[in-house]
Amino acid sequence: MPTADDSAANTDLEAVLATKGDELTRELQTLTARTDDPGGISFGKRVGDGTSVAVERLSQVAAHERLQVMLADVRRAQAKLAQGSYGECDECGARIHPDRLDALPWATHCITCASSR
Ligand SMILES: [Zn+2]
Repeated sequence: MPTADDSAANTDLEAVLATKGDELTRELQTLTARTDDPGGISFGKRVGDGTSVAVERLSQVAAHERLQVMLADVRRAQAKLAQGSYGECDECGARIHPDRLDALPWATHCITCASSR
């Protein structure tokens, strides 16, 4: 069994956050490339086609925003890790529950503040 000392745990965390950040950046690039590709989406002449394109476009915008928000959280968590404030809520300063950090390593707010955000 490897010993889980603090430095090893932080290195793991840095790797997890860096990987997630890269992943999100790639997803954002893919999404942007697809949206900007003139051959990707063609507007149909019928109203029905236009509507489905608009809906798809909206869901892409929503996905893009969601990814950007998550990427901002990942970058913030990386900064907090570097500052030594990782695991503390940005809003109220309380310790973020370890279960929450396990599920969401880039969480920058405790569950209470996150749900009221
Ligand atoms: Zn809080």
